[in-house]
Amino acid sequence: MTKRTMLLTLLAIFVLPASLVFADVRVVTTTPTLADIVRQVGGEHVKVESIMRGPENIHNVSPTPSQMMKLRKAVLFIHGGLDAEPWVPQLIKGARRKNLQPGARGNVDVSQGISLKEVPQRGELTRAMGDIHVYGNTHYVLDPLNGIVIARTIANALKRTDTAHAEMFEANYEAFTQRIREMTDQLVTQMEPYRGTPVVTYHRTWPYLRDRFGLVKIAEVEPKPGISPGPQHLSQCVETMQVRGAKIVIVETYNSKKNAEFVARLVGGRAVVLAQGVGAVAEADTYERLFEYNIQALLAAFEELGIEPQNPSVEDVKNNPEQP
Ligand SMILES: [Zn+2]
Repeated sequence: MTKRTMLLTLLAIFVLPASLVFADVRVVTTTPTLADIVRQVGGEHVKVESIMRGPENIHNVSPTPSQMMKLRKAVLFIHGGLDAEPWVPQLIKGARRKNLQPGARGNVDVSQGISLKEVPQRGELTRAMGDIHVYGNTHYVLDPLNGIVIARTIANALKRTDTAHAEMFEANYEAFTQRIREMTDQLVTQMEPYRGTPVVTYHRTWPYLRDRFGLVKIAEVEPKPGISPGPQHLSQCVETMQVRGAKIVIVETYNSKKNAEFVARLVGGRAVVLAQGVGAVAEADTYERLFEYNIQALLAAFEELGIEPQNPSVEDVKNNPEQP
């Protein structure tokens, strides 16, 4: 055996198997929501970090040099695509990694496969709708069933990157899917009596959550996505709430609770701060707990404000199970 073949044999025995068995897939995500799904699908063989902490406005983040350095070490960069995170091009440019550029294998856009809401019609002037959401509404993580589509994309990316653990990623994906389906069924049942309850929302963050859990939006505090309201628009919101009998203004953690509260108080209601993603509030520290937190916050507000179930037939059936 020559020295060279001996070296190659030693490499094969000691170095290659070790790297296959012990190397973690390093992943960086834009948001803690995506990081949590990566954690649940990737399990122990994946090391994941998020650029955002959670409470901040996803449309308005300024990447720092240290975040760019963080991204440099990643094999996979997982983000929301579309114009969800307008700061992503600057971040990946700063990271200077070929494999993470758009179109490269390490760049994973989880908007693929999602049925977007509020997609502008052809010919519709997108500028008139504000400067964001120009491809449709980007807050799709707020329908838990979209979490399953996202987990599929993430599982595929992990399987491609770490083929040795492909089966485990697939099994984790299946388990995640089941947990999310069960949780969604439970929360939908809890919200069922209130299906049709009118609400005002601050930013256009909530259509996916609203539609899944049966709330009806009647107005928005922002006149256009990302644009602050003036007094005239706020008084219009109040009027609409009075006419429709709405009492709740849903507000993100980064938006003005003061404005939301101002509008709500004028109709004897209140602002309800909901988590727009994982980590937006401390209690919403996993993808499941994000929804549990939001639905419990809504149910607590309904009770506190004396909001009657919109769908009394469901309540009647519950209270009088003997009735046909
Ligand atoms: Zn938005």
